[in-house]
Parts: sequence; C-alpha cells; structure tokens
Amino acid sequence: MIPQAILDSLTKVDMPAIPPAAAPDEHVEVAGVRVPVVRCGLLVVGSGAAGLRAAVDARRAGLDVLVATMSPFGGTSACSGSDKQTLHTAGTSRRGDDFERLARDLGAGGCMDADTAYIEAVGSLGAMEGLRFLGLPLPTDRFGAVLRYRTDHDDVGRATSCGPRTSRLMVKVLAEEALRLGIPVRRRCEAVRLVVDGGAVLGCVAVDRETAANPWGLALVLAGRTVLATGGPGELWRDSVYPAHCYGSLGMALEAGAEACNLGECQFGIGTRRQEFPWNLSGTYVQVVPRVFSRDAAGVEREFLGEWYRSTREMASNVFRKGYQWPFHATRMLRFGSSLVDLAIHHESRQGRTVFLDFTRNPAAVPGGAPFSCADLDDDARAYLEAAGATQELPIERLRRMNPLAIELYRMHGHDLAREPLPFNVNHQHLNGGVAVDAWNRASLDRLYAVGEVAGTHGVTRPGGAALTAGQVGGMRVAVHAAAHGAPRPDAAPGPAALAALGESLALARGGAGPAAAQVRDEIQARMSDHAGFICPVEGVAPALAAARVLRRSLWRAPLAVASPERAAEAFRWRHLALLSEATLATLDAYAAAGGGSRGARAWCAADGSEQPQARAVDTARWRFRPEDPRHRAAKLTVRWDGAALAVREQALRPIEDLSAIFFEKDWGRFLAGEVTADGFVHR
Ligand SMILES: Cc1cc2nc3c(=O)[nH]c(=O)nc-3n(C[C@H](O)[C@H](O)[C@H](O)COP(=O)(O)OP(=O)(O)OC[C@H]3O[C@@H](n4cnc5c(N)ncnc54)[C@H](O)[C@@H]3O)c2cc1C
Repeated sequence: MIPQAILDSLTKVDMPAIPPAAAPDEHVEVAGVRVPVVRCGLLVVGSGAAGLRAAVDARRAGLDVLVATMSPFGGTSACSGSDKQTLHTAGTSRRGDDFERLARDLGAGGCMDADTAYIEAVGSLGAMEGLRFLGLPLPTDRFGAVLRYRTDHDDVGRATSCGPRTSRLMVKVLAEEALRLGIPVRRRCEAVRLVVDGGAVLGCVAVDRETAANPWGLALVLAGRTVLATGGPGELWRDSVYPAHCYGSLGMALEAGAEACNLGECQFGIGTRRQEFPWNLSGTYVQVVPRVFSRDAAGVEREFLGEWYRSTREMASNVFRKGYQWPFHATRMLRFGSSLVDLAIHHESRQGRTVFLDFTRNPAAVPGGAPFSCADLDDDARAYLEAAGATQELPIERLRRMNPLAIELYRMHGHDLAREPLPFNVNHQHLNGGVAVDAWNRASLDRLYAVGEVAGTHGVTRPGGAALTAGQVGGMRVAVHAAAHGAPRPDAAPGPAALAALGESLALARGGAGPAAAQVRDEIQARMSDHAGFICPVEGVAPALAAARVLRRSLWRAPLAVASPERAAEAFRWRHLALLSEATLATLDAYAAAGGGSRGARAWCAADGSEQPQARAVDTARWRFRPEDPRHRAAKLTVRWDGAALAVREQALRPIEDLSAIFFEKDWGRFLAGEVTADGFVHR
C-alpha cells in the first residue's frame, strides 16, 4: 500500500501564491476613457505549462518578460488530467529508439511538418530534464532511469508520468521558478485583441481586472514580441472534457490575420462530463474493465454494450483496450475494435440515455454469452492484468491494486467510485491544429509566436503525452529565438494602430444590439458537437458552415450585448469563438469537398462510404464511412481571415534535410555565428 500522505501529495497539488504586478503608471486616453499602458520586452499571454516554460527560459536568457494571464492556475495544464497524465519523450526501449524514429512516430498520422516533429523529438529530453531540475517528481528506477510505459500511438513505451496531476505539477514547478526569477505576472489580464501594424504584432488590448482604471478593465500592453500560450478552445464544444473557461485565443489570432492550420484535426475520447468533474477516463480506469451501462430518465438501466460485440470476452477486452487506445479512431470501429465502444456510447447518448461506468460490478455477459472473467480475456488484456496482479473479483478492487490515486482523485471531487457509478461521455479533448508556426514557433505575423495547444504543431494523430512535451519544447524554442533576435521594451507613445485597436475594443466592450453571450455559446457549442464531432455525417458539414457564417456575420454587424461592464470580456470570447467555429467548419468543408476520408478524430459518414462497422445486434448502415485517402497526409489545410472572408488552402508539409549531413566539424561554426536561429516563416 502507498501511504496516504504520498497519494495526497500527488493529487492535492497546492500552487504558490502569485503576488499582484505593479499598477501601471502610464495612461492613454481613448474616446474620453482612461486606459492604463503596460510595457515589456516579451509578452507571454497565458500561464499554462507552455507559457510558463517560455517565460522562465526567456527570463533566464536575459529578456524583459511579462506574463499576462486570464487566470494564473486556470487552463488545462493546471486543471486537467487522466489516470496518469503523460509526458512523452524518447526512450531506450528494448526494441531500440532514436530521435528520428520518434519524429517519424510523432508525424505518423500525416499533416505534421517534418522539421517540427524532429525538433519535438530532440527537444523532449531537455524539456523533461529541465522540469526535473526544477523539482518535477519524475519516477525513476534505482539507476536513475525514468520509468516509462506505453500510451496511445506509442509502440515503444515512451510515456512517463507523475500521476494524474502531472501537468499541474509542471505548472507548479515552473510558477515557482518564475517567482524566483522575479517575472511579473498580471493575474487577471485577458488579451482580447492583438495590436497589429504593418503585419507586425505590437502587443495587445487586454481586459485587466486588477488594474481596472476604467469600468471595462481595458488596458494596453505594448511588447517587443508576443507569445500566445493560451491553450485550446475547450469552450468551442458542448461535449468537452476541458475544464471550464478555456477559450484559447485562436479566434483572436485569426481576427488579427494570423494563419491557422489543421483546425479539423483533434482528439475525442471518453471522459467525465464538464458539468461534473471533467477528467479523462483512459489507462487503468478502463483497463480494470468496469461495467458500462446506460440509464434513461425513468431510471431504467440497459446493458447496451452487449448489443455491439459478439462475445463477453470481445466486449470486455475492447473496454480494456480503451486504456491505451484511448482516442477515437474510425478504423478501430472496424472488426469489432475498441472504437466501437465510442460509437456505442455516442448512439446511446443520442437516444437520450446517460452512460455510466460502474466499478462495483463486472460487465454483464452479452446475451447468451459466457459470464465475465478476468481469465477469459484476449491475451493482451489478460496478460496485462495478471502481470499487474490485478485479477481481483471486482473492478474497484483491481483499480485499488493498480492505481489508488485514480480512486482518490474522484473522492476529492465528491465521487466515490466504490459506491456509485460514474456518468461519462465521448468528449472533445484536444485540438491538434492551431496557429500555424514555423520551426521556431513563429506565427505568420511578425513578432508573434504561439506555443502549447494554441499552436498548430501536431498532425492528424499525436501520441499521448506529446501535447505537454510539444508545449515545453515550443517554449524553449521561443526563448532561444527571441533572445537571439532581441525583444526590447518599446518606448514610443502608443501609435495609430494601438489607438485604433483600443477604440474598436471599447466599442465591443460597451456591447451592441446583438444576442447575449449565453445564446451565442449554446448555438456554437451545439453546432460543433452535433456536426463536427467524431461521428461526422458529410452531408451535415456544409449546412453547419453556412449557419456558422450567418452567426459570425450577424455578430460583425451587431456585436454581442454586454450585461454589465464587468462582463465585457465575454463579448470578445464569443466573437472570437464564432470566427473560430466558422474557420473550423470551413476547413472541414474543404477537406470533405476534396474527397477527404476518415482519419484521426473523425469518422466521415456517408451513404457512399466503403467501410462499415459491424455490430452484433445493431444496424450500422448509417455509420458507413469514407476511408482515408493517404494522399491527404502530405499537406496541411491552412485558413486565413482577411477581414471579410476566410480562405482555406492546401499547404505542403515542410520537409527536413538529410540529417546525416549535419555534424560537429561542419556546423559548429554556424552555431557560433548565430546562424541556426536565422530561419524564417515559410508559409507567406
Ligand atoms: C482531460 C485532459 C487530459 C489531458 N491529458 C494529457 C496528457 O496526459 N498528456 C498530454 O501531453 N496532454 C494532455 N492533455 C492536453 C494538455 O493538457 C494540453 O494540451 C496542455 O495542458 C495545454 O497547455 P497550454 O500551456 O498550451 O495551455 P493551458 O494549460 O490551457 O493554459 C492556458 C493559459 O492561458 C490563459 N489564457 C487563455 N486565454 C487567455 C487570454 N486571452 N489572455 C490571457 N490568458 C489567457 C489561461 O488562463 C491559462 O493560464 C489533456 C487535456 C485534457 C483536457
């Protein structure tokens, strides 16, 4: 048994106190309103794991850094997790591993730039070691080697973890370092508009609730360079496992003219619902093979999963496999694979029933089938449970054996898995696309970077844990690049671009004749979850795009109503998400029009689809789907807003040169001369 104090330290992670930043002593007047002006060399927007890594490394490199964040410990890094949250790095598996192989695996699903994949591979070790140096309690064996396991899209076993709160612990050690380095943090400061002049970003307009020199909290932040580290757009979806209030800033970046890419590529998987405690149900939560059932409004329970699989053994083994095949993938619906579980849950939820995991009982037998037994599972599942010593009678006992932290965590959030079943769903969990960036995480606008989930660095699939690692590597790269090119604090008076941005922001903050934020939210979230989810009927996308366009146009004509000045930020958030929703649907529509088929997150369902999942007793004709055309892996779909319309186009992937041609004697000079940081953004 692991002592309770150790379990507590890995689940209840207290964060350091962040002191308030100094009140600005400079102001500018716009339309009779006094607006504080803040200045810095490098502005990092967002304080998740990615933003704090960029801030800490940049400060160490001597830059004048300011972090502006909506909430210091909000966002997915601080608030999300799974049974064991994963960091992903190169590992020396028994089968051998190297950075080039890791890079190939990172980009295996297609649509990932080859240079970015290699950068993330080689950067992963330093990213992790840096965190370890700061105090991240990564588990090791007695030789000091990091303990690793296999996660999704990972044949080698490159995943490691500090438990369910790995990313929160990352934020903690990085925040402590930021405090040690004296980096100022504006704690309730939300960027709402980028200031762009001649294609360069000069900072942002923010709603800063701490300075609040005017009723709306509007402030101007002028910066030499700006880093977006604002996370993913969890609020874009109704069925979402993100914590509350994750808006990201992708819509804001699009509005400013930054290019985005791969917006159609994301991840869906099973997790507890946002209205309760949003958490991923991967790993041991399902590897202990709990009972899956549904309940209707009258409380009638159904053992629906038995209608999909041919035997109890097949059903139970596929529930088990959701542990390491967690994200939905269309091809895994075929041949009675593990994504048939997701489809069954989707169908059951659409019938108005709530789906539950029950750890107090074993799965019911499929009709006419053998009863469940840990000894009667497919080889992979049986061997795993036997090796872990987890063949106890009940799922809760198996979970207690393999991962007591998993039980502890739900108990902390008011749910005792040993007593009551857990409602759950298939949710949107991660956006693989985002702001298009080059090999130094530079966006298409000058002096703008993007790191972490807001950056579109992943391809169609990503191994579990690659998101956190990509954010760390991105933060490190930005620091190196900004330090090499300089990020001096601007000293000129706010120019016409800044004043215009402030004027426009003031008008939006005051509110318009448009709908209220809640109405826009409900419309956007329902449209995205119903028409752009993991089961995606091709015929529904164009009408959904048309409706998203109507909404965005109406908001551009009549901005959102604002209930009170304190709620001004909502007007920007939903304006931006309306644009992002349209951009995402435009990307999906272009992909479907080009004959795109099922890959990564989505099954593209169509009557002419050549693939059809099979189920024991359910008619699956409506889920016939189009297979992937592998040619689409070689390009990303980019999208850009020109102020009036969105343009989607295909962009070939960046290749990587012959790495064997890089060696010390030839390239040391280039490094010393600073040439390695000189590459430019290649999408323009
Ligand atoms: C349930 C769940 C489980 C996951 N498990 C894993 C895993 O095991 N391994 C893995 O690699 N990845 C995992 N991910 C994904 C990973 O957690 C995220 O991609 C990652 O944490 C994002 O980090 P970030 O720093 O980019 O953003 P976040 O951590 O979301 O931080 C964003 C920050 O920006 C701030 N912010 C947002 N908008 C603004 C604005 N306009 N102005 C100012 N500040 C703003 C927020 O307050 C926050 O501080 C998981 C995600 C979820 C939802």
